[in-house]
Amino acid sequence: MERYYIRTEVVIMSFFDEMKESLVSAGKDVSQKAKEVSGIAKLKLDVKSKEDYVEKQYAELGRTYFDAHKDDEENAENEQFKVIKEALAEIERMKAEILNLQGAAQCPNCGARMPQGATFCSSCGTKMEEPEHFTGDVVDNEKFDE
Ligand SMILES: [Zn+2]
Repeated sequence: MERYYIRTEVVIMSFFDEMKESLVSAGKDVSQKAKEVSGIAKLKLDVKSKEDYVEKQYAELGRTYFDAHKDDEENAENEQFKVIKEALAEIERMKAEILNLQGAAQCPNCGARMPQGATFCSSCGTKMEEPEHFTGDVVDNEKFDE
């Protein structure tokens, strides 16, 4: 019973609220309309920014999932894992090509850049790997020291 009265009260209250609102909206002037429009535009921007935020979180979740499961046997034939792995490998190849064209090498340990042909990393001392496609254009400094 009590519940019924509460509901009735809510219905009556919302009826008066609606009436008040329709009276108010009948008297709205142009500037108020403009305010409403800018309110809509702001809300739309807020929606967009929240959507972007969610997309970013989705991507972050996907990256975390990928890192945790990229070597799982059951994912070996998964198309999405495959395309990401292929794209990452391609990115690495292209980055290596850029370094090669710049006559530079990158330490596999600390990522420091140095001239191609360096034997050890000047930053952390890691032994450098021979570049795969050494062009031979880079001057070998050691030969000139003799
Ligand atoms: Zn290094």
